[in-house]
Amino acid sequence: MSDDEVESPRAAAEEPEPEENSGEEMQSAKKIRFRKKHEWKQVSHILKEGKSEADIQNLVFECAKEQLQQWMPTVLEDYKKLDSDLYCWKKKESYQKAHGVSVTVYRCPFHYSCECETLLRVVRNENSIVIEVRNEHNANSHKQDSLKKLKMQQKSELVKVIRGDPSLSATAARRICSANSGEISPAMQRSVEYIVRKTKEKTIVREFNGVPLDGSLGSFEALRDAKWLKTILTR
Ligand SMILES: [Zn+2]
Repeated sequence: MSDDEVESPRAAAEEPEPEENSGEEMQSAKKIRFRKKHEWKQVSHILKEGKSEADIQNLVFECAKEQLQQWMPTVLEDYKKLDSDLYCWKKKESYQKAHGVSVTVYRCPFHYSCECETLLRVVRNENSIVIEVRNEHNANSHKQDSLKKLKMQQKSELVKVIRGDPSLSATAARRICSANSGEISPAMQRSVEYIVRKTKEKTIVREFNGVPLDGSLGSFEALRDAKWLKTILTR
């Protein structure tokens, strides 16, 4: 007789449990699964020793980029860029913890337009930097576009079209994009106008007196200097 046969009657006797109990168990299993889904997953551990601050910044940047780039349309990479961005991740919050540990949390740039919940966090301590991701990206992360906003694809199409021909009006750009990547309703006109204006500001470069003007203060100052110098020199 094998042990199995001796064991089985007892196991069988123990097996039937009150329904409530197994229900509870199922629930707690669900809870654990739920919790796991929202856990932070370490994607990089950088030791500071022997590295310059610039090297470290670069490694952090490269890791952040690696975690987002494949989900990021190239034409939107420098759209609405802020100094606080890490690659294209948008800073959500930054706080200090005990023992000199500092934490910066970043959101996916499509958090608002696609309800994407992917987060990246950079945890710095005295000797190392740990980079973690929560709710990792998958193929569906950016599919949930908000109906009230332009879809990510439409946005990148608009930027592409305007960069190709900055003389286009917002309406013309909207019609071209509608034909290329799905109907953009006229109700979106204001959002379209905003993107078109912002893209034009960055794209249009005019030359006055041999100085390229791109709408930035620096370019106007360069023009002013050029004009003044010319005036002074010809006096
Ligand atoms: Zn995302």
